[in-house]
Amino acid sequence: MKKLAVLTSGGDSPGMNAAIRAVVRKSIFEGYEVYGVYQGFQGLITDNIEKLELGDVGDIIQRGGTKLFSARCPEFIDAGVRKNAIENLSRRGIDSLVVIGGDGSYRGAERLDAEGIMTVGVPGTIDNDINGTDFTIGFDTALNTIVDAVDKIRDTATSHERTFIIEVMGRDAGDLALWAGVAGGAETILIPEDVSDVKAVAERIEAGMNRGKKHSIIIVAEGVMSAGECGRELRKYINVDTRESVLGHMQRGGKPTGSDRVLASRLGAFAVDLLKDGVSGCAVGIENNRLTETSFDEVFAEDHQIDRVLYKLSQELSI
Ligand code: ADP
Repeated sequence: MKKLAVLTSGGDSPGMNAAIRAVVRKSIFEGYEVYGVYQGFQGLITDNIEKLELGDVGDIIQRGGTKLFSARCPEFIDAGVRKNAIENLSRRGIDSLVVIGGDGSYRGAERLDAEGIMTVGVPGTIDNDINGTDFTIGFDTALNTIVDAVDKIRDTATSHERTFIIEVMGRDAGDLALWAGVAGGAETILIPEDVSDVKAVAERIEAGMNRGKKHSIIIVAEGVMSAGECGRELRKYINVDTRESVLGHMQRGGKPTGSDRVLASRLGAFAVDLLKDGVSGCAVGIENNRLTETSFDEVFAEDHQIDRVLYKLSQELSI
């Protein structure tokens, strides 16, 4: 019987459980024996691997986090360490692996594939920063979590006539800040993909105040600067009463939205389809609502780009 394993790695994201469920159920449907690896690549090294049955993934589609746990495992960069991991799989006769994670996890997945374990990546990260897919699993849920927070903060910003600075996740990618900014009607969005001109932001806020605008929402991605720093910078140019809010890890939790559950189900099952057909060394994705596969080389070839058209629109709508 063909044997396949699945793991989740790197930062967790809502919908990872739905993806695990899809991989497990589709594998069993296709006649595979399927194994769960706990704690990401760490579990491959420590042999923390367990056979999974249909019932093991019951009642998880609606849960945030990951049933298989996740871990950072810096030593996986070492080929000697990976050899040990491959031996743990081979001893059980497992020759196929699905890695659910972000681009860091894809690096490990690409190595394993090159070294003999047929591996396919599934994009699980709230950052939406992976080439070869329009959306990553968890992005929609995190976006809605942020928008919910922005709506609530807007109520108090309006009541007290204040400028609020909301810091969201995104060290290198501004997708969450951009989409949340558009959806939440933010006056200003600061993303790592653009030069941040705080003086210009201050001038816009001042112009708004002069027109009678009573409050303002600024969304800043953590990779640009902290909310506190942004407030201090602003006050160098204008006399404005700011309040800062750092949303933090709540953005990674919570039950996945319907969209994320469907995306995870489609991508998880598609990864199994590819492995069954002998295709590996690639990541699955969704582009224009079609399931696609992209080689790891292509995924890594260039940095993820922000949607410039949406960014321009955000500026046009927040005048
Ligand atoms: P994410 O997958 O969310 O981007 P990380 O960047 O932390 O998260 O990567 C997750 C894990 O992937 C790392 O802890 C490490 O085990 C593995 N990894 C990252 N880069 C490499 C690499 N160059 N070679 C092998 N494994 C890697």
